[in-house]
Amino acid sequence: MTRAQQLAEALAAVEQRITAACAAAGRGRDEVVLIAVTKTWPATDIGVLRELGVRDLGENRDNEAARKAAQISGVRWHFVGQVQTRKARSVASYADVVHSLDRRRLADALATGAQRAGRTVDVLVQVSLDGDPTRGGVLPVDVPALADLAAGLDGLRLAGVMGVAPRGVCARGAFDRLAAVAAGLASQHPDALVLSAGMTADLEDAVAAGATHLRVGTALLGSRPNPLG
Ligand SMILES: *Cc1c(COP(=O)(O)O)cnc(C)c1O
Repeated sequence: MTRAQQLAEALAAVEQRITAACAAAGRGRDEVVLIAVTKTWPATDIGVLRELGVRDLGENRDNEAARKAAQISGVRWHFVGQVQTRKARSVASYADVVHSLDRRRLADALATGAQRAGRTVDVLVQVSLDGDPTRGGVLPVDVPALADLAAGLDGLRLAGVMGVAPRGVCARGAFDRLAAVAAGLASQHPDALVLSAGMTADLEDAVAAGATHLRVGTALLGSRPNPLG
């Protein structure tokens, strides 16, 4: 089997999972965007996925993402990893959506980068779902202040929230808590409706909890040879 056939089969299988999860949740398939997380995989794979209709791509390292974004056009780039402040200017020059806004300094740095590039970058506040914000994300109680700050910065558009289910716990419970945070945010910022949740292992739970964006790597592209998180 060629790589293209492999990717086509994997995409069809993931589509089937999403369609089934939407049906089970009484939701339309068009309410959920599939982001193919292509970190560590070559641009040729991205070319194949594009041919198959995938338009949203996720990356988590600035160097790799910048290189791919320069090579490949006509897609939406989602930055899903932690952003170092010194990389923020670069990330803001190509990312359409940054899923991992977790501190004020990063909001300022992304806004500055976006302004310099003459762009507007969508940002999602990353919410810590394991109660340990040192592992990325802010505690639910701290979401409103960071969201208000981001909403007020030129160059940024507050678009919603993102979360990663902690290992070893019920993902559905974690995603339900994330959905409650998202609802609270939307009551203050009615345009911030993105709920980015769900990966290979737990996309069904995410759809059931109301996810609008799924970030799927392994199920589409295979196990990363050199897992970078
Ligand atoms: C790598 C990554 C994913 C994709 O994970 P898979 O388990 O390979 O589907 C999703 N979200 C984030 C933040 C990631 O870093």
